[in-house]
Amino acid sequence: MTARHVGRIAVIRSRHDERATGPTETHHDARYPAETESSRPCFDPRVRADIVICGLGPAGRALAYRCLVRGMSVIVVDPNPRRHWRATYAAWTDELPAWLAGTTLAATVALPRAYGLRAHTIPRSYSVLDTGRLQRSLDITGATVLTGRATRLDRHIVTLDTGRTLQAERVIDARGLRRRPGRAEQTAYGLILDDPGPDEPALFMDWRADNGADPGSPRSFLYRIPIGGDRVLFEETCLVGAPPIDLGELARRLRCRLRARGIPVRGDEPVERVRFPVVGGAPRPGRFGAAGGYLHPATGYSVGAALAAAGDIADGHTRVPNAARAVYRLRRAGLRALLALPPSELPGFFDAFFELDINLQYAYLSGRADFAGTVAAMTRLFAGVPPGTRARLAAATLHLPPLSPPGSGSVIME
Ligand SMILES: Cc1cc2nc3c(=O)[nH]c(=O)nc-3n(C[C@H](O)[C@H](O)[C@H](O)COP(=O)(O)OP(=O)(O)OC[C@H]3O[C@@H](n4cnc5c(N)ncnc54)[C@H](O)[C@@H]3O)c2cc1C
Repeated sequence: MTARHVGRIAVIRSRHDERATGPTETHHDARYPAETESSRPCFDPRVRADIVICGLGPAGRALAYRCLVRGMSVIVVDPNPRRHWRATYAAWTDELPAWLAGTTLAATVALPRAYGLRAHTIPRSYSVLDTGRLQRSLDITGATVLTGRATRLDRHIVTLDTGRTLQAERVIDARGLRRRPGRAEQTAYGLILDDPGPDEPALFMDWRADNGADPGSPRSFLYRIPIGGDRVLFEETCLVGAPPIDLGELARRLRCRLRARGIPVRGDEPVERVRFPVVGGAPRPGRFGAAGGYLHPATGYSVGAALAAAGDIADGHTRVPNAARAVYRLRRAGLRALLALPPSELPGFFDAFFELDINLQYAYLSGRADFAGTVAAMTRLFAGVPPGTRARLAAATLHLPPLSPPGSGSVIME
């Protein structure tokens, strides 16, 4: 094992690391002479680049990759830059940029299904990404990769927790979202099973009540998608909650659902545990990915949007149009509406959503700056739900006091 120290930043290479990281990352740290903490200057004018990207999740890494493709000098900073992504990422196929290698797709479903009180076929292709291939395909060879924590980000200067500063033409915050008490979160518990057979459709969202949950308790849905290699992810999901449904309860519900559907579980299957905040970002110049308001607060999706925008951000189109800020506010209103509905009204709400014209569904789910489309989708949705639900949606959207009967518990939990 060899270690090279950069102030307190150590890039440690071991045989294990090399195997784990593969050929995609190199560490060009020749610019950073080894120095002791006391001799290290606070501001190092030699540490310059076209762009410093803080955070190497899907957003930061995609941006770094697109910047390198354009020949820019790139510094990336992350507390754990060699971390292997483990999450199963998926997106609507039409969101994915043309430059993304086809090999990064693990599976594509042409017509995913949804269930509220009724069955729906969604006429929009949905793709599941092969996480390992996605990470490797966002090749950051050529970037200066620093292990560290960015604590202060200005327009041109990043300060690390060691006190070291980095200078660049542009600084991008792609540090994701922090969990904080009171913040709405999405949780899910998933099992990866062998494919039970071609008759089982991919389920984008299945609110049917066969998961053994108490009818008055916060509701969760089943997400069932192929992930390639004849394997299927079955995930019991709490769309949003503050607090969300805990993972133990979701695991219990998932097993109950699988039993009810006659799907056998051995007990040693790989598990996916999901928990992340859906709020905390904001659409601002200099921010990207979940940190930059790309994460839809009412659905938890951001990967497709970040991949799609990475090229534009690399090109310097960082201005945030007013329409994008307005759409983000509407999406926050959508989150409030979800949090305000009692559990019994959720399936009907999603029936109305999946009965919207697919262009309106697209506008609400994917149109980051489509203000008119988002308003049209929300208006049509509002008209399509039952009158009681409509009153609650209106109150929540307009920030009026909740109309749910006291003690009933909000839909997804508030
Ligand atoms: C298990 C799971 C499954 C998900 N599935 C999907 C999905 O299918 N589709 C979808 O669209 N979304 C999904 N999401 C939600 C969301 O899109 C992801 O969380 C996504 O990873 C967000 O990407 P990001 O790059 O913006 O932020 P993150 O992935 O959170 O990356 C942030 C990075 O910043 C680094 N960092 C943190 N602090 C600092 C610091 N101070 N300095 C430098 N670096 C820092 C972190 O180490 C991390 O690498 C899922 C989330 C989870 C947890």
